[in-house]
Amino acid sequence: MTQNRLSIADPIRTNDILRKYKLRAKKSLGQNFLTNEKVLDAIVDASGLKSDEIAIEIGPGIGALTEKLAEVAEKVYAFEIDSNLIPVLADTLQYYDNIEVINEDILKVDLDKFVEENGLTGKTIRVVANLPYYITTPIMLNLINSDYPFQSLVLMMQKEVAERITAVPGHREYGSLTIAVQTKMSARIDRIVGHKSFIPQPKVDSAVAVLDRLPKDKMDIEDPEFFNTMVRSSFAHKRKSLMNNMLNWLGRTDESREKIKSVFEKCGIAENARGEQVSIAQYKKMAVEFKK
Ligand code: SAM
Repeated sequence: MTQNRLSIADPIRTNDILRKYKLRAKKSLGQNFLTNEKVLDAIVDASGLKSDEIAIEIGPGIGALTEKLAEVAEKVYAFEIDSNLIPVLADTLQYYDNIEVINEDILKVDLDKFVEENGLTGKTIRVVANLPYYITTPIMLNLINSDYPFQSLVLMMQKEVAERITAVPGHREYGSLTIAVQTKMSARIDRIVGHKSFIPQPKVDSAVAVLDRLPKDKMDIEDPEFFNTMVRSSFAHKRKSLMNNMLNWLGRTDESREKIKSVFEKCGIAENARGEQVSIAQYKKMAVEFKK
């Protein structure tokens, strides 16, 4: 309940809004509206958002999460690709003067430029979103790799992706995406959210992932391009050993085999190890040794 109104997330209000505007959720845009207030409150809680901080939301939909963020943050910028939802949001969010809805495709927004042009440089900015699942990975990687250090990302995503980004070495889900995320952010799953919490219900289970920026000294990768290529090559063929993947990358010569063996030895990696058994610290050390 928001003052005397039902929250947008209340299933009765959500259905009223959908009916009023004759909206049919677009599958192609990943439109599954969250109608579980407890989950929404938990998302806002997990973000740690404070009254002097900025929230960026991706895909406000009909505004369920947006209104919760506006109640806490200094200002909310919400990027929505679907122009049909813009007049709906103008109506549902009319009681708030600290929300700016931007009708754009988030993948086409230059976030660094956006931060600068809106005078937000130096501000603590947290990204909070119930993501459109068909583009979870590119959105997340753009946010993590942008020059502006977003303090935290609290993202609802499909459960499988959340498991991959929070995986630990030795687990099936541990791979290049895990490493891309965990070299910059600490990552944990706050909660699993069943499909009944949405209208319409998605086919997959979801999870709220919380990513907090690591201190600068832990992001000590000298040549990120080389590091990323090395990591991607290490997982290119998941069923092959790390040695085999590295030989594919560096060329199947005696010289590369000797080089890889000596790097493995210096990093404490067994010759028959697989990519998923190697820790991030070991990958970092490998990158240094390969470049020597
Ligand atoms: N935040 C709302 C909620 O929790 O109920 C809606 C979440 S829904 C899972 C995802 C939203 O992202 C939809 O409103 C959809 O139109 C929007 N969307 C999809 N692709 C987008 C893109 N490329 N850029 C911005 N918004 C996008």
